Amino acid sequence: MKTFQSINPNTGQVLQDYTAETPEQIETKLARAAETQRTWAGQSFAERGDLFRQLAATLRVQQADLADLITAEMGKIKAEAMAEVEKCAGQCDYYAEQAERLLHPDIIPTDAQKSLVVYEPVGVVLAIMPWNFPLWQVFRYAVPALMAGNVTLLKHAPNVFGCALAIEQAYRTAGFPEGVFQAIVADTDAVANLLADDRVGMVTLTGSERAGASVAALAGQHIKKSVLELGGSDALIVLADADLDRAAQAAVQSRMMNAGQVCIAAKRFLVESSVKAAFTEKVKTLVEHLKQGDPTEPDTKLGPLARIDLAETLERQVQTAVQEGATLLVGGTRHDCHFAPTLLDNVTPDSVVFREETFGPVAVITEVADEAEAIRLANQSRYGLSAAIWTHDVARAERLSHQLEAGSVFVNAVVRSDSRLPIGGVKKSGYGRELSEAGIKDFCQSKTIYIG
Ligand code: NAP
Repeated sequence: MKTFQSINPNTGQVLQDYTAETPEQIETKLARAAETQRTWAGQSFAERGDLFRQLAATLRVQQADLADLITAEMGKIKAEAMAEVEKCAGQCDYYAEQAERLLHPDIIPTDAQKSLVVYEPVGVVLAIMPWNFPLWQVFRYAVPALMAGNVTLLKHAPNVFGCALAIEQAYRTAGFPEGVFQAIVADTDAVANLLADDRVGMVTLTGSERAGASVAALAGQHIKKSVLELGGSDALIVLADADLDRAAQAAVQSRMMNAGQVCIAAKRFLVESSVKAAFTEKVKTLVEHLKQGDPTEPDTKLGPLARIDLAETLERQVQTAVQEGATLLVGGTRHDCHFAPTLLDNVTPDSVVFREETFGPVAVITEVADEAEAIRLANQSRYGLSAAIWTHDVARAERLSHQLEAGSVFVNAVVRSDSRLPIGGVKKSGYGRELSEAGIKDFCQSKTIYIG
């Protein structure tokens, strides 16, 4: 039987060994999910909402323990882990309140007596999730999907199987029927088998482009809907009239949060020539003062990367960028999973750190002549998750927002997810949306009813 290990990236200590579930065990869970879905979909929004309010309360009671588990399994600093748990509770509260309104039938005037569109659950949603926000990524898709009347099977990343099982336990503690939310301890072969099964209605994957392409191909083979939330290499554009202090603070916060392991982090800073030196100096000072170390210590701002292979990949990317001509201003060093906060200047568009996603604390500065070059270089990426623009002229920023190839554009603000706003990508960053009305409807099928 295949086994998985959860390893604390800060200490190297093995936290837990997990044995892959057998095909029979997975079949039992799938049968239970399919069976439960029929009764679950028959419950009212109010009944489902009460359970999600209970789940929010459960998360708040367990907040410190869940945060400790996140920190142990993937190295996030404690304050960020606490905030992640609260964000999940807020997501439960939001959809408990709003799901019925968001899925209200649309009455469409036609020549019929009555014609309308209703939004119905897809059934069993198979989800494949990453480790970087081990609770939030799960709550982000699951809460709307389940409020819509679906049930779910979760295949989490193996280094956070402990978080997956803790989430399942939280659903149980909150009083959900057993088949509504189930985690499976399995590898990608089991995912392929589940996707082939007629009882699974759709799949959602948050993760890398490579994993997304593979799962989407399988979904296509079985004619199943998919939602893909994939990688990003977001641009942060600093125009000459920007508030440089705020822009520098936001850029560093966006890039260094969660030790840089954020899909919507600002990964490429594109700065207009006239302010480039001043902006770079401000960013350099901020990066130099970030305290890196033990994620359980309250004054640590940056913990380790979640796995040693991720730290090694990042090290290779930085070394290659320097060989290609980038200037290393801060950091660049690695000790086990700990990667020093790093600032690279004079990065050109053909550099590896411009072309590829960097999933760690590496900020990259590229000079641009004007707004036209900023937009051109921002769009010169295979990804299109989000982007940020810093300028005093918000009308200009709004105009430029339409020219950016991205799922969202934030002006004078750090890009973040919010239950009320859709999130998702274009190009190789995926398709479909999570959160808000779009994010619940993507986990539904619409049905037209025409009464002649
Ligand atoms: P990953 O290697 O793609 O893994 C993500 C999940 O997919 C894991 O559960 C993984 O399980 C599974 N997986 C990998 N290959 C698969 C395959 N061929 N078939 C089925 N499942 C497969 O990604 P990661 O390194 O954990 O996460 C980082 C990536 O996720 C980054 O690119 C980041 O930008 C992206 N991300 C995107 C968003 C968003 O909202 N757009 C949010 C967070 C992260 P195994 O580990 O067992 O293979």
